[in-house]
Amino acid sequence: VRVRRVTDCLFCKIVARQIPADIVLETGRALAFRDVNPQAPTHVLVVPKAHHENAAALAAADDGLADDLLTACHAVAVQEGVAEPGYRVVFNTGTGAGQTVFHVHAHVLGGRSLTWPPG
Ligand code: 5GP
Ligand code: ZN
Repeated sequence: VRVRRVTDCLFCKIVARQIPADIVLETGRALAFRDVNPQAPTHVLVVPKAHHENAAALAAADDGLADDLLTACHAVAVQEGVAEPGYRVVFNTGTGAGQTVFHVHAHVLGGRSLTWPPG
C-alpha cells in the first residue's frame, strides 16, 4: 500500500523504520509506539501511516482512516491492560493545545488515575 509520506516528518520516519521506536501494535493503516517521554505508565502514540497534519485533516480525509485509528487506540488499551478501569485518548490539535509533531497522533494514556479536566 502506498501512503503519503513527508521526508522531514519524524513520525513518517518512524513509520518507514528510518528511526527506531518501541512499536507495540501495527495494523494495515496504523502504527502504535511508546512515547519517549511518557506521562503515564501506559503512554502510546497511535499514528496513521499516511501523513495528515492534525485530527481535522484526518477527519477530512473521509476514507475510514479516522475509524481505523480509533479502533487501533482501543486495541492498544486492551493489549496494555488499561481498557479497564479506563484510559484516555487525546489529540493535541494546534500549537495552542501543545501539538509539537505535525503528523496526527493519538496519545493513549492509562495505568494511573486520570484527572478531569486535564489542564
Ligand atoms: P504532541 O505534543 O505533538 O501532542 O505530542 C508529541 C509527542 O511525541 C510527545 O509526547 C513527545 O514526547 C513524543 N515524541 C517526540 N519525539 C519522539 C520520538 O522521537 N519518538 C517517540 N517515540 N516519541 C516522540
Ligand atoms: Zn508524517
